[in-house]
Amino acid sequence: MEKNCQLGTIFNIQKFSLDDGPGIRTVVFFKGCPLRCAWCANPESQSPQLEIPWDKRKAPPHFLKLKGERKNVDDIVRLVMQDEPFYQKSGGGVTLSGGEPMLQPEFALALLQACKEKRLHTAMETTGFAPPDTFRRLLEHLDLLLFDIKHWDEGKHREYTGVSNLPILANMKYALQQGKEVLPRLPVIPGVNAGLEDAKGFVLRLREVGANQVQLLPFHQFGENKYHLLGKSYAFKNVKTLHPKELEEYRQIFLAARIEAFF
Ligand code: SF4
Repeated sequence: MEKNCQLGTIFNIQKFSLDDGPGIRTVVFFKGCPLRCAWCANPESQSPQLEIPWDKRKAPPHFLKLKGERKNVDDIVRLVMQDEPFYQKSGGGVTLSGGEPMLQPEFALALLQACKEKRLHTAMETTGFAPPDTFRRLLEHLDLLLFDIKHWDEGKHREYTGVSNLPILANMKYALQQGKEVLPRLPVIPGVNAGLEDAKGFVLRLREVGANQVQLLPFHQFGENKYHLLGKSYAFKNVKTLHPKELEEYRQIFLAARIEAFF
């Protein structure tokens, strides 16, 4: 078979993941994201460039492992295939995540095609923020989309992420119309989209695109130290982690509208 040397920039490959689609999965994290969510738990994923984090608290400054690496499709598929027996037993496969995989469309396409040649189940965690033709080309090779939706209101979406939600919602609607398996996921962020009026707004948007389920992802503080190491300021430093119990009333608004909402 012809060698596939298409190169892409990734910042991690995580094996034995249980949270990124069905079964046991290998997750390939792409570097680079078109959004700038102030609460992002993976700030090292945002820049498409390679980065060297360093700990300013230590003297002399303590440099850490380079974030990001250039890797080719063949090498990634070889790594992914090491766990093929686990995928078969568990109904798992490979998940492309980020950052935003669609920001490196040719690399993502080559990787998905190579995984499909190996008959793997393919999923993508995506912001959905991509030109329609890019989105549609990649969609063909995906079995499942884990599709983030950050704010129901276009103005607020721009304010908190830097981009409009209109192309995101249009892409989600298209994927659902094509009969693709789509799981909308909603990071619930205090002060951004965690009010009961926000839940009602999300219900409207989910109805408009034809979705009947949503996974609620309560805000957590896993990313705080990474901001420090990248020399970035973190606006959510003192914001309290949310517990699912605190979001029961919020969840009920979706259920009342016949949208299956779960954690
Ligand atoms: S879309 Fe995800 S990776 Fe991109 S900035 Fe927002 S939280 Fe971070």
